[in-house]
Amino acid sequence: MTKTDLIVLAVDDDMINLKLLKSMLLKSGKVKEVIEAKNGSDAIGQLKSRSDIDLILLDIIMPVMGGIEMLKVVRADDNLKQLPIIVLTTDETKKSEALEFGANGFLMKPIRNDDLLNKMATVIV
Ligand SMILES: [Mg+2]
Repeated sequence: MTKTDLIVLAVDDDMINLKLLKSMLLKSGKVKEVIEAKNGSDAIGQLKSRSDIDLILLDIIMPVMGGIEMLKVVRADDNLKQLPIIVLTTDETKKSEALEFGANGFLMKPIRNDDLLNKMATVIV
């Protein structure tokens, strides 16, 4: 991953997961800002309100709008469809569906720091 100063949108309905993710990302030295969203709908709102987001980290099981539904919305939107998305979930059975609907990467929770940074490096050029 050559790019630094990344702006990451972290989407998860579990506030503890969000805090852990945010802390991990900010300590990495690659990320300057983490925007939090508590479901897919909230995340789409964030994406519409700013155009400087580099990467989305996306949970699957969330109320209001889950991760698969959000993937469909993002990939169908001409302004958003190129955005790299890594799915983070406890449910391995969602992997093929996530990739089918356009996720660039998939990681199983609990997330390890090294795994996350390695995966980020594969999806960000
Ligand atoms: Mg969840």
